[in-house]
Amino acid sequence: MLRMQPFTAHYPTTLDDVTALLDAHGASAMICAGGTDVVPNLKHELFAPEHVIHLAHVHGLHGITEHSDKITIGSTTTIDAIASNNLLQTHAPGLCDAASHVAGPQLRRMGTLGGNLCLDTRCLYYNQTYFWREALGFCLKKDGTTCHVTQTGKRCVAASSNDTATMLICLDAKVDLVAKSGLRTLSLIDFYKADGMKNNVLSPGELLLRVHVPKADSTIKRLEGFAKLRHRSSIDYPMLSVGVRFDVDDDLQIKNARATLNALAAKPKVIQTDWLTGIRLDEATINQLADYTYARCTPLTNICDDPDWRKEMVRVYMKRACQNALARLEARA
Ligand SMILES: Cc1cc2nc3c(=O)[nH]c(=O)nc-3n(C[C@H](O)[C@H](O)[C@H](O)COP(=O)(O)OP(=O)(O)OC[C@H]3O[C@@H](n4cnc5c(N)ncnc54)[C@H](O)[C@@H]3O)c2cc1C
Ligand code: SF4
Repeated sequence: MLRMQPFTAHYPTTLDDVTALLDAHGASAMICAGGTDVVPNLKHELFAPEHVIHLAHVHGLHGITEHSDKITIGSTTTIDAIASNNLLQTHAPGLCDAASHVAGPQLRRMGTLGGNLCLDTRCLYYNQTYFWREALGFCLKKDGTTCHVTQTGKRCVAASSNDTATMLICLDAKVDLVAKSGLRTLSLIDFYKADGMKNNVLSPGELLLRVHVPKADSTIKRLEGFAKLRHRSSIDYPMLSVGVRFDVDDDLQIKNARATLNALAAKPKVIQTDWLTGIRLDEATINQLADYTYARCTPLTNICDDPDWRKEMVRVYMKRACQNALARLEARA
């Protein structure tokens, strides 16, 4: 049986108490929201916090609220609540789709949006027991000196594997981060950095408070699509997740587009889409975007599948995400 190392557990009930605890304990503290990632990681001895601060009893951190121009989602809102929320089904259906593809039903009911967006990066050589990692001489991200993926250098390329981020980046979402010293707002893509050791810009003492999802401009149709490659569709992490968003007029001319891929490297990959503006969204455009994306993605051995096969799947899953976006148009008609 895998056991956790001892730590002091805290169960604050107010946000002020959380930020005070984070401020007092700094890097020796770790947040636990739903615990679906933290608990296995503690059992695998990937972290050794002296203090674990539980968010489950903190008032005012969860819920989905409508504003005139956006929808705000509290960080402890569960993934399941996001998947089935009527407001989000109307204004951000691609996000609901992505949420419904996270893990399995039990994990979606425990797991939170904050936990999903702050998920630790994942790697074949890292998400293993202490015994397994020790047998290999550990790795750069924890306890070792070598990266078994790149073989050279001092860079960790463990993969960002959070499905909601894929879609939220396409929707130009913003995040509020709060610490005892105050609040700052960042676009979600700027929340991430290309460093598998720690792929977000949260400072010790800071937590993710809420997420803002802009509503679509009423003069356009916003079509959102998501597609995910994984071994077992009932539970597994992504081997690849793809999100797209097209803002189109009545003739399907693209006014604005976004495309994001996740589970390739430490930071979600944004594909340049300016060149799509003015083009009609049809099968030929989808093929063009799939080829363009294929040429720009290089899967690594950080996930236990053949990188060449995953590269081929980039094209396939980009097409599927786009076709899922187009299908929303038919569903509206
Ligand atoms: C078998 C299995 C399959 C899974 N499959 C998927 C999948 O397909 N797709 C996917 O995206 N995820 C998957 N997950 C990961 C996980 O279940 C989800 O990402 C979940 O949403 C994490 O949320 P949580 O509240 O449980 O996070 P926790 O485990 O509580 O926390 C995760 C991380 O976020 C930090 N954290 C949590 N909340 C905050 C906050 N508000 N501010 C700052 N830091 C915070 C924690 O310190 C920790 O580092 C899977 C997990 C398992 C065990
Ligand atoms: S990418 Fe390299 S350093 Fe990072 S977790 Fe994997 S093996 Fe370790």
